[in-house]
Amino acid sequence: MPIGGVHCPAVRRLRHILISTTTVLSTLLCIATTALWLRSYWGTDCLSRRTPVASSPYAVSHYEHQIAWTHGEIRFSSGEQSYYLHSPLSDSAAPVTASAYWSWSRLGVGHWGWESPPAHSLRDRLGFQSYHSGLSTSFSDSHHDVDTMPAWLPVALFAIPPALFVRRRIRARRRAQTGHCRRCGYDLRATPDRCPECGTLTAATAGRRAPAAAPHRTPPEA
Ligand SMILES: [Zn+2]
Repeated sequence: MPIGGVHCPAVRRLRHILISTTTVLSTLLCIATTALWLRSYWGTDCLSRRTPVASSPYAVSHYEHQIAWTHGEIRFSSGEQSYYLHSPLSDSAAPVTASAYWSWSRLGVGHWGWESPPAHSLRDRLGFQSYHSGLSTSFSDSHHDVDTMPAWLPVALFAIPPALFVRRRIRARRRAQTGHCRRCGYDLRATPDRCPECGTLTAATAGRRAPAAAPHRTPPEA
């Protein structure tokens, strides 16, 4: 029986392309999230999107959505932040009409908010916390709602497709070595050229057919 019952070559090719694309993308994302996870123990990487919401000559406020890799966690936060200015902005410099913008930043170990709040439940201890974070100083105010997840979780999820790819390759090699179809596992001792179940050529047969497909030229007679 073919894998997933797929007989049509076009559907099999499309399936192969989809699996290959997913495997490559997942591998790249796994590498990226692993790097961010490891870097999170030596500082915080933040990706922020800020939308100006109000301004006056003495203050600038914006609404912020942020994802941050901090201390082994990924923190998703949203909230409002205001900065108070010592010298007034001119009207033309006031950013109230500015559009939303993205920024990437990195903070060092021990910055404000580095440590998570104390864990009170099993969910908290597993790294899935939800809390309110706020800071008021003489020059700024910020209030954010924060949800966290462990930074290893996306690494584990993105590792699944490449792990399945490696598992498929190992299984196909073992099947070929023991005389079975590398695709479906059918015993090929009676039909060593092609699998009668799914039609897959054995490696030896495919190797013999490849040169045979090349155009053959007969040298001109003298
Ligand atoms: Zn087969």
